[in-house]
Amino acid sequence: MMLFYDLFVIVLKFTDGTRENDWECPNFENVNFAFRTVCNMRKCSKPKPA
Ligand SMILES: [Zn+2]
Repeated sequence: MMLFYDLFVIVLKFTDGTRENDWECPNFENVNFAFRTVCNMRKCSKPKPA
């Protein structure tokens, strides 16, 4: 479910472009919400880059 949620964010990026604080995990090119402190992918959990 979370994966679909973040795919939705990617769509928002293309349509709207206002989610600039969202961050992309370098491991899987997974886009996380700005408020996340670690990657939302369970097998990753990489901390948000500075
Ligand atoms: Zn990740």
